[in-house]
Amino acid sequence: MAIVELGKFSIGVGDRFAHQAKAQLQACIEAGHDGIEVIPVWNKSNREHNIIGSEPFSARAAADAAVKALGWTKPYFCDADHINLTTVDRFLAPCDFFTIDVADYIGKTAEPASIERFLKRRSDLTGAIRLEGVREPIQITPELLRATASKFLFAVQEAGKVYRKIELSKGKGSFVPEVSMDETDAAQTPAELLIILAAIADEGIPIQTIAPKFTGRFNKGVDYVGNVDQFRREIVLDVAAIGWATANLGLPKNLKLSVHSGSDKFSIYAAIFEATKDSGVHLKTAGTTWLEEIIGLAEAGGAGLALAKEIYTQAYDHRDELCGPYATVIDIDPEKLPAPSTVAQWTSAQFTSALRHDPHSPAYNPSLRQLLHVGFKIAAKMGDQYIRLLESNEKVIAKNVTENLYDRHIAPVFLGKPSPVAALAHAEAK
Ligand SMILES: [Zn+2]
Repeated sequence: MAIVELGKFSIGVGDRFAHQAKAQLQACIEAGHDGIEVIPVWNKSNREHNIIGSEPFSARAAADAAVKALGWTKPYFCDADHINLTTVDRFLAPCDFFTIDVADYIGKTAEPASIERFLKRRSDLTGAIRLEGVREPIQITPELLRATASKFLFAVQEAGKVYRKIELSKGKGSFVPEVSMDETDAAQTPAELLIILAAIADEGIPIQTIAPKFTGRFNKGVDYVGNVDQFRREIVLDVAAIGWATANLGLPKNLKLSVHSGSDKFSIYAAIFEATKDSGVHLKTAGTTWLEEIIGLAEAGGAGLALAKEIYTQAYDHRDELCGPYATVIDIDPEKLPAPSTVAQWTSAQFTSALRHDPHSPAYNPSLRQLLHVGFKIAAKMGDQYIRLLESNEKVIAKNVTENLYDRHIAPVFLGKPSPVAALAHAEAK
């Protein structure tokens, strides 16, 4: 049987209410018109399914239906996003991409004997490692090798358990495995990444993507916060380390970097494009499509705008409860949140310009955007009332979903077109 392979460029799209798969796929079709193949991957985490009250089969059904309706003939995938040994089961049948999340196990120490075996087997990693296209070699001391093994080997062993469980159920080569370590506090250095890849190779996990934690903050739905130059240097080294690993460790040739919480990170898209245009990249954009649904409803006016306002009011009233599970990945300034009574007076244009991530617009409000981003539970509770409005306003919502994915994500990340922030800096310089 042929091995299922993820293409060079792929985009992870989230679709909380399983109504936008066609509009999302349309963005990949437009990429094709511009001469680049971008493979869609529909991702939905266990946490998201639990909050919405949905099952992984519904995400699969929505993806299949969109592919059929639009006549997409290239590969596409359904991602069991951030699963582990206890949550993987219900994803086994419907998914063919598995993001194995080991962040919770980082820092737990493996059995001393297995650490010693790893150090012995991989002693050749110590010294200077020359990476292609990078002037300074990476230096790995015996102390760094030991410290990295102590910190990460247990997590990689756990990933191995999850991988083997999936392989046993689905068959070797029939799915794309990813290992993710992004939901943790400390960024991994390129040297650590190289050592982790060696451990993953030893564990026999044929990963096709790996999601490290980068330096800087990757808050949900808003721009990158951090040192862009440092990020640029880091991603170049990460890509080079992955290239070295595929050449020397027997990992799959198409192994590439996966950038999680990748939506809206306009300030680093030029750096991502430059670093990954040859090696490929997976950009996971996650749940921001839901914000385009709200923007579309607000733009539609009438009952749509009224519902968007109602969702804001309830999100405002329940902000502590909604923000709790996302505390490490959002930064809301409560002072910047308009009172619901103010929002109640807003026109369609006022609502959409506050919510839409357009850094040109003085009305854009990142705090409001982040609050609504985590507020999907409110819409989930509204049930049919929300879904009916999605359906009756499909056209205006779909336009926003496709434009957001294509103009603000696919074009700058995969085609190297200026991101909205770069365009803004350019306009200011004039
Ligand atoms: Zn992640």
